[in-house]
Amino acid sequence: MDPGISLELQQVTKRYAGHTAVRKLSLRVPRGAIYGLLGPNGAGKTTTIRMVLGIVQPDEGSITVLGNPEGGWKASHRIGYLPEERGLYRKMKVLDLLTFLAEAKGVRRATARRDAESWLERLGLSAWKVHKIDDLSKGMQQKVQFIATLLHRPELVILDEPFAGLDPVNSQVLKDIVREVAQGGATILFSTHVMEQAERLCDSVCIIARGEKVLDGSLAEVKQTHRGRHVALAVAGGVASIDSLLADRALVARADNYGNYAEIELAEGADPQRLLQLLVQTGVQVTRYEITEPSLHKIFLDRVGAEAAVAAASGNE
Ligand code: ATP
Repeated sequence: MDPGISLELQQVTKRYAGHTAVRKLSLRVPRGAIYGLLGPNGAGKTTTIRMVLGIVQPDEGSITVLGNPEGGWKASHRIGYLPEERGLYRKMKVLDLLTFLAEAKGVRRATARRDAESWLERLGLSAWKVHKIDDLSKGMQQKVQFIATLLHRPELVILDEPFAGLDPVNSQVLKDIVREVAQGGATILFSTHVMEQAERLCDSVCIIARGEKVLDGSLAEVKQTHRGRHVALAVAGGVASIDSLLADRALVARADNYGNYAEIELAEGADPQRLLQLLVQTGVQVTRYEITEPSLHKIFLDRVGAEAAVAAASGNE
């Protein structure tokens, strides 16, 4: 495998009792990338991650992890995994637990203890190190589990919905750490259905829906591909006055009307200049006409569909 690639899936399919959770999924995660596996609830993200880790086996296709064509189980000491279902040994004390988990991944006890203390300090948990996991709030437990994921300095870090349930301050602290770890050379694969998180953090993404890939590539490429089709538009007197023009499906694929302005996705192949000309011909006073770069959320809406996007938005963050 190309040494610049940490993880590669080729044509991977997983079925559960007649239901296909993941279908012919191919993707490549570059070394050192922060790679977002994105999709609405039930899209197949966790199933994909479990296959990468070797927890479940694909029915078809191949998965190469850190150069191992047998998949993640062969490289488990080099991988850090934060599962979606959090769970720690509740009766153990925080520092003892972190030391134990790092030792299980091959770290010497003294090193594990020293590094764990330094992480606890950084995440504001030093005062809790001799407390049992049970005594910690859910958010604190999540931070401890996050430390456990990174303590053995893994080359590949897999985070399943890592920010779910965290307050904005802790969420930001963890995002900063994710960036640092990637800058240190590790590869990050993380799943989320919150596009704003992915937009802020990822340099590459893969959007899946109903088990199938919708698009993938670097964030810059994905945005480039969708550029030129989105227009922010405002007219004097409000957008309602040009309703009939916006209903022209040869020109406008979709218009989100916010009253004072509208966000428009042009139809495939439609020329933004043509829309501007027609607007001027109607006699309205155009106060804003801006070809915009779509947000990842907008791209997700356009490509995955409003129905799936609503399901994603109503999921827990
Ligand atoms: P979410 O964001 O809600 O966690 P997800 O993208 O992680 O969703 P998966 O958990 O991978 O999605 O589920 C994909 C599909 O596969 C769902 O329809 C789910 O019900 C099904 N599925 C997952 N695991 C199993 C299993 N062990 N047995 C049967 N069906 C399963």
